[in-house]
Amino acid sequence: MYDITVIGAGITGTFIARELSKYDLNILLLDKENDVANGTTKANSAIVHAGYDAAEGTLKAKFNVRGNEMFDEICRDLDVPFKRVGSLVTAFNHEEMETIRCLYQRGITNGVPDMKIINQEEIMELEGNIKEDIQGALYAKTGGIVGPWELAIALAENAVENGVELQLNRPVTAIKKGEEGYRITAGNSTYKTKIIINCAGVYADQIDQMINEKTFEILPNRGEYNLFDKSMGNLVNTVVFGCPSAAGKGTVILPTVHGNLLLGPTAEPIDNKEDTRTTFEGLTTINDHARDTLKQIGFSEVITSFSGIRAKVETKDFIIEKAAGKEDFINVAGIDSPGLTAAPAIAEYVTEMAKESAASMGMSFNKKETFNNRRTPSIHFMELSRKEQEGLIEKDSRFGRVICRCENITEGEIVDVINRKAGATTLDGVKRRARPGSGRCQGGFCAPRVMEILARELNVEMKDVLKDGLGSYILTEQTK
Ligand SMILES: Cc1cc2nc3c(=O)[nH]c(=O)nc-3n(C[C@H](O)[C@H](O)[C@H](O)COP(=O)(O)OP(=O)(O)OC[C@H]3O[C@@H](n4cnc5c(N)ncnc54)[C@H](O)[C@@H]3O)c2cc1C
Repeated sequence: MYDITVIGAGITGTFIARELSKYDLNILLLDKENDVANGTTKANSAIVHAGYDAAEGTLKAKFNVRGNEMFDEICRDLDVPFKRVGSLVTAFNHEEMETIRCLYQRGITNGVPDMKIINQEEIMELEGNIKEDIQGALYAKTGGIVGPWELAIALAENAVENGVELQLNRPVTAIKKGEEGYRITAGNSTYKTKIIINCAGVYADQIDQMINEKTFEILPNRGEYNLFDKSMGNLVNTVVFGCPSAAGKGTVILPTVHGNLLLGPTAEPIDNKEDTRTTFEGLTTINDHARDTLKQIGFSEVITSFSGIRAKVETKDFIIEKAAGKEDFINVAGIDSPGLTAAPAIAEYVTEMAKESAASMGMSFNKKETFNNRRTPSIHFMELSRKEQEGLIEKDSRFGRVICRCENITEGEIVDVINRKAGATTLDGVKRRARPGSGRCQGGFCAPRVMEILARELNVEMKDVLKDGLGSYILTEQTK
């Protein structure tokens, strides 16, 4: 019998599981996919928002601002890339200047620190590549960029190191309430638990309705992106938002933590929660925005396009509450943007809710003295000094073999991410952790080498190595 089961190992579920691992509890983290962070968490803008965007008085506003201020410490503890590069909302005409003044006022109400409206000259000092006819911008110093899936993976690793049980490939298909808590059917397994925390992203409504009356519905909404080669990575220094309008929050142009350039997202309501295609119209819209904003950009430098699905709800706010009449079922749903930024604050809040539930059920909820807030650091070979590199190669010659020539990733780093807690089992799982295949050739050269390493380390045949999700086979049979 588990004390608490968290359903969904995206950024919300992994943050909550890691926060709960500070307590002496028997915790289970379940996901239907074969890796953590395989839902919305792997496809978003990766922005740590300052917090002026969310409507006053909402949970989004509260958790955005609190979440933002928690990022430095968490990313340091978990060795995850995070940069406070600042953000700009651009205004090119009188109407847009009015909008950024409203955003500034909202930011003040929401408690956002270090914001100001800056003029054309000040913008040019920050962003020399923005077109000169810009009139002003809202500058928020606390805006930042992060590696979203790296953070969720690090949280899962650290949670497991602190005693959480992670079970992947476990699609939850039924939940029944018995005399002693819940019985969850997930894949071929069943689990008993006292408390359920539903963090199932775009499927949070389905999980909720397995046991509760329908009170909300997830309305999927797709955002498309273009990712550019590192040769374009210094076209902007900060997160550059277009001005929001009735049509949406505005398209963003931003550097990534690894030095690429990202354009996007669109915002399109869709019917199918799995429809992560990109479209000519969507990509044209975001490219046109960049063309209108920047003096120069090279569209031949796009290395990949992708899309992510927002879990929107009718109320436009996060739904973080106990199901009606139940102390032991907590919904954490409708976590669309700024869900990545808000996740650490959501985890704090949900842990307090779980504490109250536990108290009402006579369950103990005591701090664990052995909690370790730091995960085992990952190895970034190319960031080491020459002496450290030589020392590592002497200990393990696999650090002397470069597998990914675009990103300079060694065999030693790939083996490390496969063999860690919550380690990689797929080609994209390795890519999300160690970055082989993230460069210009997008794995054209290194993918077969990484597959060989995966097959060897996991002791499976090459043809059983998956690209990403279940069924994404790359090879069909051995020819010679
Ligand atoms: C286009 C776009 C841009 C965004 N940009 C930003 C941004 O810049 N900054 C920001 O703060 N936020 C941003 N967001 C929002 C942010 O990405 C999300 O709020 C966040 O990733 C949601 O995380 P999650 O863990 O709630 O959901 P998910 O990451 O989707 O995780 C849910 C998990 O539940 C699992 N699951 C589902 N059903 C089941 C089941 N039946 N059984 C078991 N497991 C199940 C899934 O496999 C998945 O792993 C953006 C979102 C989108 C789509």
